[in-house]
Amino acid sequence: MDYDQLFRTQLDALKSDGNYRVFAELERHRGAYPRAKNHGAGADEVTVWCGNDYLGMGQHPEVIAAMHAAIDQCGAGAGGTRNISGTNHSHVLLERELADLHGKDGALLFTSGYVSNWAALGTLGARLPGCTILSDAFNHASMIEGIRHARCEKRIWAHNDPRDLERKLADLDPDAPKVVAFESVYSMDGDIAPIGEILDVAEQFGAMTYLDEVHAVGLYGKRGGGIAEREGLSDRVTLIEGTLGKAFGVVGGYITGSVELVDFIRSFASGFIFTTALPPAVAAGAVASIQTLKGEEGVALRTRQQRQVARLRAALDRAGIPHLDNPSHIVPVMVKDPVKCKMLADILMQDHGIYVQPINYPTVPKGTERLRFTPSPLHDDSDIDALVTALHALWSQCALARAAA
Ligand SMILES: *Cc1c(COP(=O)(O)O)cnc(C)c1O
Repeated sequence: MDYDQLFRTQLDALKSDGNYRVFAELERHRGAYPRAKNHGAGADEVTVWCGNDYLGMGQHPEVIAAMHAAIDQCGAGAGGTRNISGTNHSHVLLERELADLHGKDGALLFTSGYVSNWAALGTLGARLPGCTILSDAFNHASMIEGIRHARCEKRIWAHNDPRDLERKLADLDPDAPKVVAFESVYSMDGDIAPIGEILDVAEQFGAMTYLDEVHAVGLYGKRGGGIAEREGLSDRVTLIEGTLGKAFGVVGGYITGSVELVDFIRSFASGFIFTTALPPAVAAGAVASIQTLKGEEGVALRTRQQRQVARLRAALDRAGIPHLDNPSHIVPVMVKDPVKCKMLADILMQDHGIYVQPINYPTVPKGTERLRFTPSPLHDDSDIDALVTALHALWSQCALARAAA
């Protein structure tokens, strides 16, 4: 058996379809975000325009100081799984901070947001007798994998469509457990779920609700508690899931909910139990980041981010560059062609020192290929001007359609 040949055959298929992923090798510069050194092809120094460290908290002095202090005090690793010697004081403090952020009684940490979705949905679906999970059609891969792992009944409801959810719920046994799983901000289109209407429907049918706020925590709400906080709905959501790796600038995932719910996942989720706890320094950095974003500095960073988002959209409009209009911080510029999408990204990196990852199928449907820009408070006005000037020139060069004025 030539195993490498088997691997190559499938990789070649990806390449010929234009779906082969190539990573940009970067070295981020603390204190100079969104600037980074580029170790791959293209300009040596680039401006990162597709980062998920949405507010630059990965270089925040207090986050870094907390991490340094924790390393000096506790060393590098956690020392074990949470169950066997790995629960450090900073994990417990972080869980309290997270419960408070979402106005819940309990919280539980995971090694990533992906693992938290996979483990929590997998455990709920598998352990609640006769459970059905109702999943929004655009849910993230980590939720889909969790639901698959649960091996329970599932129903897919049309994206952001409470009426379709209602029809699907009406078909189910009124006395059986149900979990309605959805996101607040969807990361590819940047659209936002009608959380209130979804909760109305779920409550009507006695379903629990599972809300992924990964692209909203730190960014929305008075204290950065997400869209549910902004809309005053956190109380009504049974479980809120989030990440420490995006706006909070560190790494890790979590769920929050009632004491019983959190204890249930803690006690039964293999993806929580059988893995080494996050390093204490990561937990300490996350606490500093969450506390900062809960306060006035968080408000200022969110306001500045929204300003830069609005500025980019306005500049794109003036240049006739088509982008999806949405109510979030995500600015998808629609190219609608996989080859041109990749080519644009390559030229931006090569000639303009602008790094944006092309987003092609299967991450988005064919024909909706795009460049997804995420302005942060650290992208200044001249960064925005440079980006739009470059896009303006490339749009002509690549003979792409302009948006109607
Ligand atoms: C990124 C992402 C996750 C996973 O979070 P990580 O902490 O990066 O593992 C979960 N849900 C959604 C919607 C995401 O975009």
